[in-house]
Order: sequence, then structure tokens, then C-alpha cells
Amino acid sequence: MLNGDGLRVVLWVAGCNHCCRECHNPITWDPDGGLLFDDAAKKEIYEQLDKSYISGITFSGGDPLHPANGMAVRELMAQIKEKYPQKTIWLYTGAVWEEIYSYALMKYVDVVVDGEYMADKKDVKLLWKGSSNQRVIDVKKTLAQEDASVPVLYCGDYAEEYQLTEKPEYAGGCCV
Ligand code: SF4
Repeated sequence: MLNGDGLRVVLWVAGCNHCCRECHNPITWDPDGGLLFDDAAKKEIYEQLDKSYISGITFSGGDPLHPANGMAVRELMAQIKEKYPQKTIWLYTGAVWEEIYSYALMKYVDVVVDGEYMADKKDVKLLWKGSSNQRVIDVKKTLAQEDASVPVLYCGDYAEEYQLTEKPEYAGGCCV
């Protein structure tokens, strides 16, 4: 529930070279770490996505766009989008949108949370991201623009707009 809209399957991949200070998942930095992603793992993901109450899948890590991961992640996204066209795909990456918006896999992605985690910009009231430099980007709307390098936000920053002290509520699958 913390890794995107709704109740989601999350795949944490190994491999990240961003080395953010106070990263919560340094165990995922080694691209040779983790468990082998085999047919049994893929079957487990599909079994979860088969459930009507699962909104989609989130790719996190580590960095799914690390050079060791990009091709396999793209292939898996393509298979998931074909098998479950109604489910959403979210992608967390330490790269910024301006560097990655032309990547071929973006045609499968609905939302990107971009940018490195910056400990000095940490804010626990932010939705779906850890620090205020990061952005929750609506990929479909952004890519439909004439200039796709300018991100359209999926939603704004709760911390600034609402000064929330309690868990936010959602309407229509997005923030209000
Ligand atoms: S991009 Fe994410 S996984 Fe990689 S170092 Fe930064 S916080 Fe950690």
C-alpha cells in the first residue's frame, strides 16, 4: 500500500549505483545479490495479479533501471501489460525523469517516482516518496505532451498542500 495506488504487488530488484545517504535498502545495491528471478517467481507474481483487488505491480529496488536490470524489467513489464492491461505499472528509480523519459519501457509504465533519496529533504508526510526532491509522475499524460521531458505530476505534495497529520484519503484512484 505504500508503494503506489491501491493494494499492489511489489518486485524489489537487485542493483543500484545511486548510493543515496541513509538509503533504506542498501542490501539491494549489489546487482549480483538477491534471489534469482525464475519461472516460479514470475508465477507467484501472476498469481497475485490474478486477484481482482490487486491494482497492479510496482517495480522498486535497488533501481529497476540499473544497467543489469533494464532489459529484463522491460520484458517483464511487456508481458504483464499484455496479460493484465487493466492493471497499473509503477516504477521507482533513482534517475530523474529528464534522463529516462525516452526509454522504450515507458510505454508500459503508468507512474514513475523519480530521483535519488535525499536525507536532508526527507518528509514522512509525502505520499509515495521519501524526500521532497522526488516526483510522482503521470507517465501517460507526460508522454502525450509535445515536450515529454516536462513531467506532469500524478499528484502534488501532501505535505505542502494539506499539512496532513493523518493518513490521506483517496478519490477516484488518485489524490484529492
Ligand atoms: S536509488 Fe533507492 S535503492 Fe538506490 S541508493 Fe537511492 S534510495 Fe537506495
